[in-house]
Amino acid sequence: MKNIIFIAPPAAGKGTQSKLVSEAYNIPHISTGDLLRDEIAKGEALGISIKEDMEKGNLVSDEVITTLLRNRITSPDCQNGYILDGYPRNINQAKIYNQLLDELNYDKGVVIFFDIDRDLALKRTISRIICPNCGSSYNLLVADLKPKEDNICDRCHHQLKTRSDDTEEVFIHRFDTYINSTKELIDYYNELGLLHKIEVGTKSANEIFEEVKKVLND
Ligand code: AMP
Repeated sequence: MKNIIFIAPPAAGKGTQSKLVSEAYNIPHISTGDLLRDEIAKGEALGISIKEDMEKGNLVSDEVITTLLRNRITSPDCQNGYILDGYPRNINQAKIYNQLLDELNYDKGVVIFFDIDRDLALKRTISRIICPNCGSSYNLLVADLKPKEDNICDRCHHQLKTRSDDTEEVFIHRFDTYINSTKELIDYYNELGLLHKIEVGTKSANEIFEEVKKVLND
C-alpha cells in the first residue's frame, strides 16, 4: 500500500507530481480542501459550518477533517494507497493521522517534501501560463512543461495567457507563511524516519518524478 503525504511550498510542482504519481500507481489524489468543498456543496449543516471557517481563512476543526478523511481513505479506491495533499497541516493533525493509521492497520507510508528556493519558486510562479479554454497549464521555466509551440495550447490550440493570481509580495508572504507553518511538521516526520526530501532546483518535472518513483519503489 502506497500512502503518501506530499509537503510542498507554493510553486514546487506538487500538482504535476500528484498527477504523475496518481496515474502511474493508480491511486487517488486526495486534497483536504476539495473534501471540504465537496461537503459544502451538499448544503447540509456540517457544510455550512465548514464554509464559515473557510471563508474566515481559519483551519477547519481536527474533528471534522478526521471524520472526512477517515471516510475517504477507507473507500475502495484507496486500498492500494493514496496521495494526501493539504493534510496534515500541523503536528496535531500528524499525530491524529498516525493514530488513525494504527487503528486502520494501515502502513505509515512515506512523506515527500519538495524543497524549493524562494527566488526560484517566485520565478516559476511568474512563468506559469494556462489555456483559458481547456485549463491546461504550462511553465516556461520547466523544460518539459513548455508548450510545443510558443503561446499555443498543445491540446486545443487556443492562445495561452499568464496566470496572474499572485503579485510578488503576495507570493512571498504565502511562501514564507507556508515554510513557517510546516517547519515543525517536517522535523516531526524526519524524527520518525518517514521524511524524504527532494530538491526541486531547476530539474524537469520528469526528473523529479524519477526521484519520487525511487522513493516509492524502495
Ligand atoms: P486548500 O484547498 O488546501 O488551500 O484549503 C482551503 C481551506 O480548507 C483552508 O484554508 C482551510 O480552511 C481548509 N483546510 C484544508 N485542509 C485543511 C486541513 N488539513 N485542516 C484544516 N483545514 C483545512
